[in-house]
Amino acid sequence: MDQMRNFGDSTLCEHFFEDPSRYFGAVVPPIVPATLFTFPTYGDFLEASKDDRHNYTYTRGNNPTMEMLEKKLAALERGEGAKVFSTGMGAISATLFTLLKSGDHILLVNNVYGPATRYIKQLEKFGIENTNIFVDAAADMEEHLRDNTRVIYFESPSTQMMRVIDLEVVAAIGKKHDITTIIDNTWATPLHQKPLEHGIDLSIHSCTKFIGGHSDAMGGCVIGAETTVRDIFDVGHQFQGAVLGPFEAWLITRGLRTLAARLEYSSRTVEKLVHMLQDHKAVRKVNHPFCYEGEQKTLAEKYLTGYSSLLSIELDTEDLERIGRVADACRIFQIGVSWGGHESLILPQYNGRNEKYLNSVHIPKGLVRIYVGLENADNLLDDLKTALDQHF
Ligand SMILES: *Cc1c(COP(=O)(O)O)cnc(C)c1O
Repeated sequence: MDQMRNFGDSTLCEHFFEDPSRYFGAVVPPIVPATLFTFPTYGDFLEASKDDRHNYTYTRGNNPTMEMLEKKLAALERGEGAKVFSTGMGAISATLFTLLKSGDHILLVNNVYGPATRYIKQLEKFGIENTNIFVDAAADMEEHLRDNTRVIYFESPSTQMMRVIDLEVVAAIGKKHDITTIIDNTWATPLHQKPLEHGIDLSIHSCTKFIGGHSDAMGGCVIGAETTVRDIFDVGHQFQGAVLGPFEAWLITRGLRTLAARLEYSSRTVEKLVHMLQDHKAVRKVNHPFCYEGEQKTLAEKYLTGYSSLLSIELDTEDLERIGRVADACRIFQIGVSWGGHESLILPQYNGRNEKYLNSVHIPKGLVRIYVGLENADNLLDDLKTALDQHF
């Protein structure tokens, strides 16, 4: 099986860790919903219990259906081990709960997924400090490190603003100061950015987004060195209990099979959409690596082997009603949170009450997040252009 690791990503998505000869030759592996597994002898049970991570004893630990997904994700991301969770937040909270202790400090860099930031604030009650810095260059983060900094946590491209950062510089800073570096790699998916190959310690995904891809299953995962993933398994996964259900694991595995094709298709639409938006008078700025210039372009080209189809635009207004009317005028783009499914979405970030918050995280009031799904590209372009034309 390990020789297969050298195959291309879409082949790994399809075939890695699958063996139809074990299940009637079926091309679709079965779902194993069992919560527990039995043993012919007590001796066999004792033997299996020594390693709950790699044997099947109880599904809160390991299960064949979730394990297939884990093996595929680890292979895709070039990691030794992966653990899946019931949500992305399950993966994030279990990882940080495992790695941090009272008196430690975690550094958040640039825009990080809101609920992750708020979870990290909750850790203050256990004496875990945090700071969220906003830097242009990765090297600038070094001066914000403290003696007790144990984790650097970031996204690239970053949430909402889609800023990319130099992964190898982050990794070098982590290694120099003995700090664990964690990236939330959800945007790029395991196909389009491989942070572990650049020295980042752990890569986290919300499988709810592009990996699952159909807006019908929630999941998360963490990928990295087997020793670290095992620690996260033993503590955060086992005790916090954010276990991925076998049916969801199966759905996400199914989604993974078409990930490469979906990314390729929606990337083509995104390129056209970005051109239209750049030329539109309603739009001050488009945030998507496809249109970056200068240093951001260099970094995007170095680390991203492709795009995903989540972007943001800065509208030339701060008026809540006008921003809302643009979203309302769309017929194909629907108003809703999340992203990564087949359906296109639009979501303004200003809600009339969060001015202070947006300021604090350097997000302009006119920012609108756009997710491009799998609908016809011309239809999507027309839809958004007509909505902008109507109100600008
Ligand atoms: C959605 C999301 C998460 C959280 O994932 P859930 O599955 O919703 O818990 C984390 N990070 C990013 C970048 C996300 O988009």
